Amino acid sequence: MSDLRETTVHIGFDDTDSLRGGCTTFLALRLVERISNDVEFLDYPRLIRNNPNIPWKTRGNGAIGLTLKVEEDKIESIVERAINILNEMSEENNNTNPGLVIAKGEIPQELKQFSYKALTEVISIETAKDFAEKFCFKHYTIGNGRGLIGSIAAIGNTLQPECEDFTYELLTYRLPQNIKKKREIDYESLIQADKKYSPQVFNNIDEESNNIIIAPAGPDPVLYGIRGEEPTILLEMMKKIKTKEQISAYCIFRTNQATDQHFEYASSDVVNFNVFKGEIKVTEKPKVIPGGHVISHGELLKNKSKVDIAAFEPSKGFRDIIKKLLPEDRIMAFGGVKYKKEFKGFTIQLEKCEILSIADHFKEESPFCPSCNNRMVSNGLNKGYKCRKCGYKNRESTKVRKPIDRKLSRGLYIPPAQAQRHLVKPHRRNNLPLKNSFVLIDNWWKT
Ligand SMILES: [Zn+2]
Repeated sequence: MSDLRETTVHIGFDDTDSLRGGCTTFLALRLVERISNDVEFLDYPRLIRNNPNIPWKTRGNGAIGLTLKVEEDKIESIVERAINILNEMSEENNNTNPGLVIAKGEIPQELKQFSYKALTEVISIETAKDFAEKFCFKHYTIGNGRGLIGSIAAIGNTLQPECEDFTYELLTYRLPQNIKKKREIDYESLIQADKKYSPQVFNNIDEESNNIIIAPAGPDPVLYGIRGEEPTILLEMMKKIKTKEQISAYCIFRTNQATDQHFEYASSDVVNFNVFKGEIKVTEKPKVIPGGHVISHGELLKNKSKVDIAAFEPSKGFRDIIKKLLPEDRIMAFGGVKYKKEFKGFTIQLEKCEILSIADHFKEESPFCPSCNNRMVSNGLNKGYKCRKCGYKNRESTKVRKPIDRKLSRGLYIPPAQAQRHLVKPHRRNNLPLKNSFVLIDNWWKT
């Protein structure tokens, strides 16, 4: 007799080290397709972006969490299907260390803590293994097992409505025969759709360069992804975007992208590869180094330890703000920490920056002639100034101190959309209230 008791099952997986970032979400869609007849989905697949500063991960560092309701006697078969898909995918791309984790029932608080750590710190494979064993999570890995870390983190990061911010991303996928071809997305249709649905959708087009940023580059199964606040709007928008090639499949994900979730749990301690958020006093005028990167020096306000702050070339206009910083300015720096051997010190690689206070700086100028208003010239060291036009001389006159117009305002500065990291909250999402629920819409995926 079949056991019809239903259990909540969480499946997490992470396709680490894959250079093709779209693989993890594609794997998710394949799994959704293969289990959909036997489970009830309690959530969209969650696309969880973890610490973006981990050097052995691709820039996206994304993992997937699924939450399902399953009859007890079907769990084994669901797990088997997930393992098979993971094996198939890693045969296609042997440069991966995927992991798969299955947990049942309520998410313990400790698991949530693990997830928040994965957003901001480096977690070792051993720590993840111990964790999975302590909580009796079924787990399966290929390669060195690194995928375990993101898999556990994706299960524990539940993006709970009313408590946590989240957004959605609808990803469309290409037919296998098109994967190596150039993506052709009709610019006009995208502009129109973006206008129609903004601000419910965001980061479709880079406002500084007008570049299309919904499509990844390279041989990746993703055709394009659109980000927004509501699933129904993403579906509508997909229908308006014209492409030369056929969309083979799509899936909507619930995600921590564009939420600043990593900064919420960031520390102001400077630890290599960690996410950093803290106040810094600028101590030197910034320099532009080869490659167009802007580097400034400063010290942590809390303990005066020295750090560099860097705004890289791709952040374009954002660098102009960093370039204007001067000693004694105070900023709230948000970014990733990297130890730089060549500087024997730590650099905060800025993802965004809030200018908290702007110091007064002065320049000294020769005084003006009191009789003809011409600018005077020095009459020699400690001999005052003279006017070349009318001959006026004054041995007592000295340079005048004039405040410099800093051409800088306090406030939050964020790189343009095309240089933003997945987790960074764009301006237009600031001050949005938290969503109080999510509803699985019909047609949230299709293959
Ligand atoms: Zn004069």
